[in-house]
Amino acid sequence: MLEIVFLGTGSGIPSKSRNPAAIWLNYEGNAFLWDCGEGTQRQLMTAKLSFMKIDDIFITHWHADHWAGLIGLMQTMNMEKRRKPLRIHGPEASRFVSDILDLDYWGPRFRVIAKDVPFEGEDETVILRNKDFDILSIPVKHTVPAVAYAFRERDRVNVDIKKAEKLYGLKQGPLIGKLKEKGEISFRGKVIRLGDISSVRKGVKVVYSGDTKKCDTLVKISSGADLLIHDATFLDDVEDKMHSGVKDAADIAKKAGVKNLVLTQFSRRYQDTKPLLEEARKVFQNTIIAKDFMRLVFRRRGDSLALSVK
Ligand SMILES: [Zn+2]
Repeated sequence: MLEIVFLGTGSGIPSKSRNPAAIWLNYEGNAFLWDCGEGTQRQLMTAKLSFMKIDDIFITHWHADHWAGLIGLMQTMNMEKRRKPLRIHGPEASRFVSDILDLDYWGPRFRVIAKDVPFEGEDETVILRNKDFDILSIPVKHTVPAVAYAFRERDRVNVDIKKAEKLYGLKQGPLIGKLKEKGEISFRGKVIRLGDISSVRKGVKVVYSGDTKKCDTLVKISSGADLLIHDATFLDDVEDKMHSGVKDAADIAKKAGVKNLVLTQFSRRYQDTKPLLEEARKVFQNTIIAKDFMRLVFRRRGDSLALSVK
């Protein structure tokens, strides 16, 4: 199960209903944050999410509305006697994390590890690898070094044991493991290929743009994603040089062939987001408008993947 909770969906200045950027992800007990705007720890508490579970925080760029919540969150973790390390990823993370730790009189009793994320070029980088999933980054276009992130669950190969036994007399055991590892094996004088007796269950993929102007690297990293969470600061895409309009976001979603699009990071001028939704849906029908505390859950039902939105 992958759970995504929007903790902040406003751009720049917070409003009564929208906190600055932060997104919680929880995959089978692995909890992360994508951005950590001011007030994120209170948002976590209100959403009843345990901030002590977070081991990795991914900052898209060092504008305060995307990171200023780190100071308070880390100090609270310290007061709550955190001992396990906390990793903070981002473009130029070593420089900014070191600056943050130098502020104030406090010093954490846990290790804070800064992880620099590449912010030049157009290539994807795997920045965190786990046995079940990867976190990737790719540079995007903003006024300062900035990246987008993707969560990608590994594809799973399911061997049809009944078929393996019927066709080749191969039973559940170490040879099945070897077949999964090597792709083919020789058994009783025959070559057995993995593809002939298995199916692939595609892993779930979710992408978050951070702040960006319309950008082709987002098409690349979002290719085939189940969900794209995209900057949609303005209704009209000509209003700003370094943010996206709703049509930009919808175009990217369509080009990348994603299944669902969530628009977020709205300028506070939009109290009513209906016109934004209508505009986006002209290009991409499966569009959702993010709200603070909106919760999305991807669940497996057999081989299919179901998305619920609350
Ligand atoms: Zn920014």
